[in-house]
Parts: sequence; structure tokens; C-alpha cells
Amino acid sequence: MRLAVQYCPYCGEQDLRPREEPRGAWECADCRSTFVITPASAPARGSA
Ligand SMILES: [Zn+2]
Repeated sequence: MRLAVQYCPYCGEQDLRPREEPRGAWECADCRSTFVITPASAPARGSA
């Protein structure tokens, strides 16, 4: 079992840094974009 490589959806950079808030959010170190990656297999947990 291994983690999938995360790519920035904006610029394709792989240098991503996890953010504590919101949960599951990553920040691209290249274009400074922040986005949330939600595993499709994970059950939805109604969070605001
Ligand atoms: Zn980027």
C-alpha cells in the first residue's frame, strides 16, 4: 500500500505541502494554490 503521488491541479507541480486547515487541503509550493483532495473511497463525513 502506498500513497498516490499528488499533483497540483493547477500547474502539475508535485511539491505539495499539507495544510492543517481545512482537513485534506494541500498547498502547492510552486503556484501557491490551495486545494482539497478528497479520496473517492472515503465515506462522506458531513463537515462544514
Ligand atoms: Zn501549483
